Amino acid sequence: MIYTGNQKIDWGKHSLNDDFNNANSEYFIPDLQLYDNFVYTNKCSGSFFSNIMTSIAVESDGFILAENGKPLTRGTFSIDKLYNRRITYKENIEDCDGNEGNFGTLRKVDDRGNFVCAQINTTSSSLESYDGTVENFQCSILVHEWYNHGVLGITGKNHNQIYNNIKKNDLFKYTTPRYKFYIDYMIQKTAQDN
Ligand SMILES: [Zn+2]
Repeated sequence: MIYTGNQKIDWGKHSLNDDFNNANSEYFIPDLQLYDNFVYTNKCSGSFFSNIMTSIAVESDGFILAENGKPLTRGTFSIDKLYNRRITYKENIEDCDGNEGNFGTLRKVDDRGNFVCAQINTTSSSLESYDGTVENFQCSILVHEWYNHGVLGITGKNHNQIYNNIKKNDLFKYTTPRYKFYIDYMIQKTAQDN
């Protein structure tokens, strides 16, 4: 079956576990492994990527972000705090350095400057940086984009802080080795910023 982004992910069956070194582990969601292959070998529409990422966000509604088991302040993800309740496809996303990013976030605030919601856009390029597993995307969408750029309002100049926050987040241990390598690489790459 090829995952189109429209199917519901069975989170009970594919529960988070840290047994990712076991090749037979269910950690790598079969549909998303197919998804990686599929994306590499096919031309996919923007709505395809939008559906995949939106589906992960929808399934994460109510997810409590935590560090060392301690819930983060205002860290409960809500689909209502995602602009239009969707992650939208955008062909090119530039971060503060003009580099192409995998995701981009606009922080929406009220009259007093309080966080209302995050407008998250995605490109098709995520797979060039790391594997397409639910937990990897979840870490990027919930921790990097929604919580750090959105809730906390950390700007592009301070990506070093964001990547360090990602490493501290409890979701991080469920990401793949390639994702962890990518975060370490980005911590080094942004060390001299600001
Ligand atoms: Zn960012």
